[in-house]
Amino acid sequence: IPPIKVKDFAEEVGMQANTLLKDLMGLGIMGNINYSLDEETLELLIDELDLPAKIAAPEEEEDFTCDGSKVKVDFEEDPADYRLRSPIVTVMGHVDHGKTTLLDMIRKTRVTESEAGGITQHIGAYQAISGDQKITFIDTPGHEAFTAMRARGAQLTDIAILVVAADDGIMPQTVEAINHAKAADIPLIVAVNKIDKPNAQPDRVKQELTEHGLVPEEWGGKTICVEISALKGENIDELMEMVLLVAEMEDIKANPNRPAEGVIIEAELDKGRGAVATVLVKNGSLKVGDPILAGSVCGRVKALVDEHGNRIDVAGPAMPVEVLGFNDVPKAGDFVQVLEDEKRAREISEERQEKEHQARIQTESKVTLEDFYDQI
Ligand code: GDP
Ligand code: MG
Repeated sequence: IPPIKVKDFAEEVGMQANTLLKDLMGLGIMGNINYSLDEETLELLIDELDLPAKIAAPEEEEDFTCDGSKVKVDFEEDPADYRLRSPIVTVMGHVDHGKTTLLDMIRKTRVTESEAGGITQHIGAYQAISGDQKITFIDTPGHEAFTAMRARGAQLTDIAILVVAADDGIMPQTVEAINHAKAADIPLIVAVNKIDKPNAQPDRVKQELTEHGLVPEEWGGKTICVEISALKGENIDELMEMVLLVAEMEDIKANPNRPAEGVIIEAELDKGRGAVATVLVKNGSLKVGDPILAGSVCGRVKALVDEHGNRIDVAGPAMPVEVLGFNDVPKAGDFVQVLEDEKRAREISEERQEKEHQARIQTESKVTLEDFYDQI
């Protein structure tokens, strides 16, 4: 990265130059707005300020990075092993437009109860059946999870369903969701919801969509719109068919014969079972006994539990599964992967922990210096 002046860098990251100068002081550097920041200082600053790495980080050629992204794993795979996998879908939209109602309706009516386990459990995601195909729904709607995942570079979803209430139209969080999907380059299907309501105006919603660059198919555009009632269960089949149609066009593939890669959807410390994390496998197969790494947490898969509460030995692509065996609670949104052996997983996790620790110390010392600065 070429050197950059403090004032220019401040402008680029949208900060006050003065604030940046204070941060520099925190790093022991006295500068002015024309001070030239070299690569090393920039890296320190970016860590310190918790800025997205993309601003300055060059392409990593290292074996692994400490920001929790993918680690290179030594294995061979046959491209011929790739086959279509179920799409992973997120439901987004403005508050009260019906996201939870839709997810509940699909779960209630499109998830087959397993013979052994019976009742499905809430593990953060579930697989629904449409015809003879499966669709994986992420059960935790909302932008935060989505944003967190994107910030960590983990592209979790393949398709987004944007729920827009036909009696309310496009609202601020609808626009946010549209922007998220655009930024992540994820195809979007619009579910115009609450059409059972007497004051529903689906055409008004479509008009408003057009104003945001989403022209409905029936108006000659590319955006698939399905008019539904999540509450009454109307047109849910059509919506699911559209998801599968888009999935087919996207040609979403995975190789079940390779070590697993996935994302942590949720994680908690369970009194009896220790750290329990729900992992959504995106590629490969996760097996009992696999050495795993998720951010700065590692372990060996002790047990896998599916959404019906059944113990399983293998979780294939697009399958959400509870994983036991992490040595600590991983963070939602963290990338998970199987490594060659536990030793390497432990080494990388320790290195990442150390880095997190250093970052904390730096923040603390910065606070002290700033306090001092404010006093004089
Ligand atoms: P969320 O905030 O997007 O998760 O919205 P909810 O699913 O919690 O729904 C908000 C409210 O709208 C609840 O009272 C739902 O019962 C209601 N609702 C959701 N979908 C429909 C629908 O299709 N028709 C009608 N009439 N009400 C709905
Ligand atoms: Mg909700």
